[in-house]
Amino acid sequence: MQNKNLVVIALGGNALLQRGQKGTFEEQYENTRITAKKIADVIEKGYRVVITHGNGPQVGATLLRHDAGAKIYNVPAFPMDVAGAETQGFIGYMIQQALRNELKARGIDKYVVTIVTRTIVDENDPAFKNPTKPVGPFYTKEDADKIKQQFPNWVLKEDAGRGWRRVVPSPDPKLIAERYAIKTLVDSGFIVVASGGGGIPIVERGTEAHGVEAVIDKDLAGQRLATLLGANKFIIATDVDGAYLNWGTPQQKKLERLTIEEAKKYYSEGHFKEGSMGPKMLAAIRFVEAGGEISTIGHLYDIIELVEGKKGTSILGSTG
Ligand code: ADP
Ligand code: MG
Repeated sequence: MQNKNLVVIALGGNALLQRGQKGTFEEQYENTRITAKKIADVIEKGYRVVITHGNGPQVGATLLRHDAGAKIYNVPAFPMDVAGAETQGFIGYMIQQALRNELKARGIDKYVVTIVTRTIVDENDPAFKNPTKPVGPFYTKEDADKIKQQFPNWVLKEDAGRGWRRVVPSPDPKLIAERYAIKTLVDSGFIVVASGGGGIPIVERGTEAHGVEAVIDKDLAGQRLATLLGANKFIIATDVDGAYLNWGTPQQKKLERLTIEEAKKYYSEGHFKEGSMGPKMLAAIRFVEAGGEISTIGHLYDIIELVEGKKGTSILGSTG
């Protein structure tokens, strides 16, 4: 069962939390258990696996807990980069536990480890001038005004009539700071969970790195990770069975196998929505353009078929 292939799998929101669920730990752990079985199928075939995941709902909840803690118990709230680190920890724990249990049950002698991961972004990224990602609690106009005084740097915007909300920048990930540690673990046979939630955004000023209050797209960061590790395949597992042309219209059509040129053409024509399928396509394009064999986007429940190129939408590099 030797297979030298290295596969990076990016897990979408539905891997941890289903639509309509409240977000109890039990719900999230049960979803993680289901996801772990899908990933164990890949490991059982002999692939080396690195896992990354989103954290949108989880970091939102963490920020709310901090906010409530500050209001009710006077426990100081932490900044966003720290909240991101907290979610990497608890989500990594769920994956370590669920996946290790599954591997053990199958008699597979492999171990799972999570790396708290920082992602380097450029301080001059134009995203810092134009924050777009809503995060944390909703505020009344009154509260929003008070918060503006308390945190003059925060940008608050009205969110579709539901109240005021903080918005933060979503800069492009450049480099995964923990890449050498991750590579060493992968080379030693560990299954690694890394770059959770796109990684903790940091900027480098001279010789010092600083956390920044921003969020990074997990698919774009996953691509950087996959490319830095020299992965063969980059799999993006989500809640839809592939990328479609004319999505959401009666003419919608699923894409199957694309060259980089075709993918770029459809991308520039605007078929893939910003903030959802758009970054997945861009991440897939970047992966094969940087020399990766193949990148496949598809449904979480079909992970093994995605890895084997039997389902989903694939972009093929020249060696794929
Ligand atoms: P994840 O948590 O997996 O990152 P997202 O919600 O960010 O999930 O992205 C998946 C969603 O992208 C799908 O549920 C679908 O509604 C949306 N989407 C936007 N454009 C397309 C498209 N062209 N083809 C397929 N899905 C699309
Ligand atoms: Mg997404």
